[in-house]
Amino acid sequence: MALTQDTRLSRVLGAKTATAMEEQLGLVTVRDLLRHYPRRYATRGEMTSLSDLQVGDRVTVLAEVRSVSTRPMRQRRGTLTEVVVGDGRQTLTLVFFNHRHARLEKGAVGLFAGTVGSYRDRLQFTHPDCHIMTGDDDEDWARALIPIYPASKDVSSWVVQRSVKLLLDSTGGFGDLVDDPLPEDLRTRHGLPWLAAALLDVHRPTSADDVRRAQERLKWDEALVLQLTLAARRRAAALEPGVARPARPGGLLDAVDAALPFSLTEGQREVGEELAAELSREQPMHRLLQGEVGSGKTVVALRAMAQVVDAGGQAALLAPTEVLAAQHARGIRQLLGPLGRAGELDGAADGTRVVLLTGSMKAAARREARADVAEGRAGIVVGTHALLQEGVEFADLGLVVVDEQHRFGVEQRDALRAKGNRPPHVLVMTATPIPRTVAMTVYGDLEVSTLRQLPSGRGGVASSVVPASEKPAWLDRAWQRLREEVAAGRQAYVVCPRIGEQSGPDEQPDDADGAPDDAAAGDGERRPPLAVLEVAELLRAGPLAGLRLEVLHGRLSPEDKEARMRAFAAGEVDVLVATTVVEVGVDVPNATVMVVMDADRFGVSQLHQLRGRVARGAHQGLCLLVTELPPASATGQRLAAVAATSDGFELARLDLETRREGDVLGAAQSGNRSSVRLLSLLRDEELIAEARVEATALLETERGLADHPGLAAEVAALTADERAEWLEKA
Ligand code: ADP
Ligand code: MG
Repeated sequence: MALTQDTRLSRVLGAKTATAMEEQLGLVTVRDLLRHYPRRYATRGEMTSLSDLQVGDRVTVLAEVRSVSTRPMRQRRGTLTEVVVGDGRQTLTLVFFNHRHARLEKGAVGLFAGTVGSYRDRLQFTHPDCHIMTGDDDEDWARALIPIYPASKDVSSWVVQRSVKLLLDSTGGFGDLVDDPLPEDLRTRHGLPWLAAALLDVHRPTSADDVRRAQERLKWDEALVLQLTLAARRRAAALEPGVARPARPGGLLDAVDAALPFSLTEGQREVGEELAAELSREQPMHRLLQGEVGSGKTVVALRAMAQVVDAGGQAALLAPTEVLAAQHARGIRQLLGPLGRAGELDGAADGTRVVLLTGSMKAAARREARADVAEGRAGIVVGTHALLQEGVEFADLGLVVVDEQHRFGVEQRDALRAKGNRPPHVLVMTATPIPRTVAMTVYGDLEVSTLRQLPSGRGGVASSVVPASEKPAWLDRAWQRLREEVAAGRQAYVVCPRIGEQSGPDEQPDDADGAPDDAAAGDGERRPPLAVLEVAELLRAGPLAGLRLEVLHGRLSPEDKEARMRAFAAGEVDVLVATTVVEVGVDVPNATVMVVMDADRFGVSQLHQLRGRVARGAHQGLCLLVTELPPASATGQRLAAVAATSDGFELARLDLETRREGDVLGAAQSGNRSSVRLLSLLRDEELIAEARVEATALLETERGLADHPGLAAEVAALTADERAEWLEKA
């Protein structure tokens, strides 16, 4: 049988290897293996730089054996063999118990794979996999560049290497195996090699130049397929007409404007006009509004919602948490006054109804709210993102605003559009600034507006890192500062990563922001993250004794959460000890202090968000990032960077650097057919932009992808993967 890309690896490789590849690396077919690219290349004669190793990494290194010593163990029976390998500058110790690799002798050079640990401040591998290169070894070792593949426990880098070689030997080059999906003219215009040549060079390179050219080509494939998917989506959305919702003078919008206790910033006015114009068109709006924490996005959204209500439609505002949904509903009702209570005794006849609809409301209240929505009495509906999945019926949904969501996937947007008889207008809001590449990929089907300006009269936030283990006195000083602020009439948040009592992390809008795990420095296990309940007890008993302190977390009932938030907002509570439920959007202008415990457990943008909670009023805010990690560690430096700048775009970039790109790209990265492997949102901005232009042009040709079945198939596969991923999450 001829080998094709769809042939299962079990028919090509040994059963054991094929099974391990499938189970541990998710490689099932020949295509999967071909697309399992080396992570990097070791240069023969040039050892891996050991100084780059981080405890906890699973890595493969090329190094030379310096010494081997075996001795009996003191505490136990048996022997301990220590093999020291080096790169010329640093050394790494390999430790074996009762075992010794026959070819491990002084002077031998080889690949060593394992998880980096440390013992008495020295890096070590315990029972690593070793592959010593000998003169009579296969020709692979004679090559200048040795590919180092992402490996697993039972599939080491050299097993992958050998398997790829086997494929190559049985096909006589990849030319018969792969068709080139790239349009010929595009390939030549950008000076890209054939796919088969690129695959060969990436797996069995002879020079660094080969690798670079090959990777460039493979990245093009990834970028183009991604951009084609997005361009197709934009086209489809543009072709499906929605309903025009033009402004009507003398309605709710005018009433909102009259009721606002401040005048709009320049930016708010400009974006407002942009939205007003788009809403008046039949083509559904698809817009992302990004703006620093506190830049006043809510009011922009509310004005758009009012315009839609004036035009006879309904508007839904979706928040990531119930706390936030409740706060929005409260704020909007307050602002609208009688205009938001149509049908009630004191309501204005020409107003509308503002309805809060959350998953955990009592059945009767819920039924009533749903009826208001279904029968059109409620012009403004506020809920959590779950609202979409719960089959709530709208009479005439005209606009959906999604608040504080930086990973609101295209599939969710699709589901949302399906809610109306005709697709509603969509506005997504985020406080995490979106770097250009992310805007072109993750949000590639949205137009982007930006609010750059903060309303004037803000005090700003001073941030600093508190290294709790190295300088315990600083932590004492932190609590003292907090007490001073409270004494001056202000309020404070203390945020912890966990609720307590064996809980997991608290409800989070999403975990895209999780702190990278390089935090796992030092030897042994890290202690569990600090918990709200325990920290609250400690503070009550010690440093914050006498202050009015309350806890807030996702395990409380919605009524409790709401009541506690309300008490805090009313100034009846001095200190709120909370999980990240206060991360997004919570607005209490009198709060000026934010202490983040175990700050290293949070991602960059999460910290920036948290800090935004105390930049709301006229008073100067203070944000203290408490950590036990040393300032010199990677995470310590990340925290220092957060403290040093309040420029959201800079932080977004830093965030991108510290997060796995897959987390950013989401679905595009998932599945075996993973479409984005080499492409980097940080480094490939130009390439992505060029691919975007090519993709748009390709779809605008008369025959579209009809003459490019290879590309069409990849686009279809990516779309299917995204759909599967989304269904799984739903
Ligand atoms: P975010 O963009 O982070 O969601 P909000 O919409 O919650 O910010 O606004 C933050 C605070 O600023 C709110 O208290 C809001 O009432 C206030 N605000 C909004 N726009 C203005 C403005 N133009 N002038 C003064 N305050 C404003
Ligand atoms: Mg907000």
